[in-house]
Amino acid sequence: PMAIPPAAPVPEPNWDAVRSSFPLLVSGAAESPELLYFDSAASSQKPEPVLSALDNFYRHDNANVHRGLYALSARATDAFENARATVASFFGAASPRDVVFTSGTTAAINLVAHSWGRANLKPGDRILLTELEHHSNLVPWQLLAAQTGAQLVFVPVLGPCGTLDESALDDLLTPDVKLFAFTHISNSLGTINPAAAWCARARSLGITTLVDGAQSAGHIPVNLASLGCDFYAFSGHKMCGPTAIGALIARPGLLDAMPPFLGGGEMIESVSFLQSSWREAPWRFEAGTPPIAQAIALAAACRYLDSIGLDHIAARDATLTAALKSSLASIPGLRIVGPPHERGSLVSFVMDQAHPHDLVTFAGEKGLCLRGGHHCTQPLMRKLALPGTVRASLYFYNSFDEINAATRILADAGRYFA
Ligand code: PLP
Repeated sequence: PMAIPPAAPVPEPNWDAVRSSFPLLVSGAAESPELLYFDSAASSQKPEPVLSALDNFYRHDNANVHRGLYALSARATDAFENARATVASFFGAASPRDVVFTSGTTAAINLVAHSWGRANLKPGDRILLTELEHHSNLVPWQLLAAQTGAQLVFVPVLGPCGTLDESALDDLLTPDVKLFAFTHISNSLGTINPAAAWCARARSLGITTLVDGAQSAGHIPVNLASLGCDFYAFSGHKMCGPTAIGALIARPGLLDAMPPFLGGGEMIESVSFLQSSWREAPWRFEAGTPPIAQAIALAAACRYLDSIGLDHIAARDATLTAALKSSLASIPGLRIVGPPHERGSLVSFVMDQAHPHDLVTFAGEKGLCLRGGHHCTQPLMRKLALPGTVRASLYFYNSFDEINAATRILADAGRYFA
């Protein structure tokens, strides 16, 4: 047989051309034609191929899936199931059957808590989290702990550098830990955790792992085979896809062993008045009409990101972030928190002279979209004794001109509030 040549690397794109496929970035918003969008960690902007996938589905292919015996419904079903295969291959999952579509990261984590958690945890068991977690990867475990008698324990953060105390893991990874759930990249400080090493370590001790991939999906290449986690949760809307779609991706075989969480149509095999049997995974976990158009548009986002190349995206994110960080560091009174070197594509900071909300409001009036506050990490902010931070978060479509403009606005804010 002929050897298959390795795929040619994608050449680095022209970033101005890339940016021009995001209509909202080109036209600006109604309130601010000179829009400076620095809030991609909350939600990314959407490129043309994703918008047209949504539009095309509703215009040409719209029908419910899995139940129609007519051609249009069969076509919608194929498109929906092909989207699952695209998402699986984008993340290097073993099979599309390991991918459960959910409304996003929050729903994916709650699915694990309700289904896997209630079936596997008993009083005295421990759930290991970190002090960096988004409320989405904290509150579901608090609820589960209250229901099962399990206990929550935390890898401590070492300070405003946002690094976790890895040496504490030696004491924390005890035999009663059943689950280690942690964020891949912190949405609050930008910390990048050594996810593959932690998953390998937990696995060698028989501990199940869940990686919150909300900030890594679509930003860095993620290959679940090499990441080695049991569960990976992400949101489509943070990686150029539409809202209300994301997925839980599981290690092969795990989903089949889990009981259903939501009951209803689509997830059953057979139903009588008193009992039912379930379909196999992943459909067992997708009760009711799924987000069909959104899944198809998420697949378009995966193809779009692949067409640019995740390596190029990660490198571009890193270059922009380094430029933003050094530019902001020149503003008097502005203090950057988070890791000194490697970080996700965001810069979190405080300014001596102004509360984060005042700064964000000032910036917003100039068209600069930032986020200020606790970033859904209240316990972390309390631990760091911060009133919250201002977060400027980037994606590959931002530009160096925008970074200069944002810095000028924040320097003005510093003088205004002085
Ligand atoms: N986890 C992290 C690290 C996040 O940044 C976010 C969103 O901000 C979430 C979870 C929750 O994502 P979603 O609101 O899309 O469910």
